[in-house]
Amino acid sequence: MPASSLFKSRLLTPGPTAVPEAVLLEMAQPIIHHRTKQFQAIFAELSERLQRLFFTTGPVLTLAGSGTTAFEATQASLAKPGSKAVTIATGKFGERWQDVYDAYGVLQVRINVEWGKTVDPAELEQVLKDNPDTSVVTVVHSETSTATACDLKGVADTVRKTDALLIVDGITGVGALPVKQDEWGIDALVTGSQKAMMLPPGLGFVGLGERALKRLEELEPTGIYNLDLRKWVASHKKNDVPFTPPVSLVRGQRVALEMIEDQGIETTWQRTAKLAMASRAAFEAMGLKLISSSPSDSVTGVYYPDGVDDSKFRAAVRDNHGVHIAGGQVGRHGDYKGKIFRTSHMGYVDAADTLAALMAIETELRAAGHGIEPGTGVTAASRVLTAD
Ligand SMILES: *Cc1c(COP(=O)(O)O)cnc(C)c1O
Repeated sequence: MPASSLFKSRLLTPGPTAVPEAVLLEMAQPIIHHRTKQFQAIFAELSERLQRLFFTTGPVLTLAGSGTTAFEATQASLAKPGSKAVTIATGKFGERWQDVYDAYGVLQVRINVEWGKTVDPAELEQVLKDNPDTSVVTVVHSETSTATACDLKGVADTVRKTDALLIVDGITGVGALPVKQDEWGIDALVTGSQKAMMLPPGLGFVGLGERALKRLEELEPTGIYNLDLRKWVASHKKNDVPFTPPVSLVRGQRVALEMIEDQGIETTWQRTAKLAMASRAAFEAMGLKLISSSPSDSVTGVYYPDGVDDSKFRAAVRDNHGVHIAGGQVGRHGDYKGKIFRTSHMGYVDAADTLAALMAIETELRAAGHGIEPGTGVTAASRVLTAD
């Protein structure tokens, strides 16, 4: 899009996502030193707001790095040496967490689910019975690559019956989908700043329950330094961080969470769900097929109709309408590259953005030769959006 374009740019990729103007302005404030009372006051408020968002009374650590940094730190810090990890993969990100444990030489029992489907807690229960020496279970709440949500409460209930700790990738879950860390018994809940948290990339968050904190105390350090969560927990007790934090991002995150809490956390979940429901109704009306049999409300994935070229289509949606959507990814157990597109419903996105995206998608599908009656998708979505 040329710089002089009058199009609004609408970022509807499932990460990074749009950042509210109030957050951008807060991040433009002069840099302050992090070992000061001023920064500590901001950090303390952020930590409390994070606890409320995670529905936990335990510490929620704020790490510099992307979501992967925070998740790897959690995996590496909590696995018992010589024990097993049960690693559930329903898409690209679950497969990544298997790669991380491979890199650390942690023994794994892998549950690989066909892309577009989700894990059955009964299968997990059997795997845990067969492997009583399991020390951690990893699962992705909302698998962004396949736009699929799992029954996280069911998974947590299953893991709770054993001595294993449950580590949850909540990177497109927290702030978008209902999740209550303490009530559901999640030992470690991880997210990143650039999905539902309404911030640019650069921060990762780890909420730790009592059992996870106890495990950290019992274990000896194992080939990690910056990623060793023991350091972060020790600092957090003093309302501090062990290394220089991205001060501007911390400031911005405090404001973004204030916005979410002013709206209401549950209301935020409901808003996200409504935008997702409207989008699914629109795609169905356009005759398109969802990629997931257990769709996540934070992101919707749709198969292209025959004959639509992925990169040309997404470029047209971007260049002619200012709407950024995502394509498909490829992994070990699935391949969506060139076959699907994905739109996000997380964070700073509203009904107008959603309708704009649907209009752009419909227009460019028609231009690519897919015969749809004009207005079909938008009409179906509006019906959902205007209903009480
Ligand atoms: C984006 C994403 C990640 C990776 O996070 P990065 O910030 O890119 O490291 C992991 N898991 C899920 C479910 C994601 O959506």
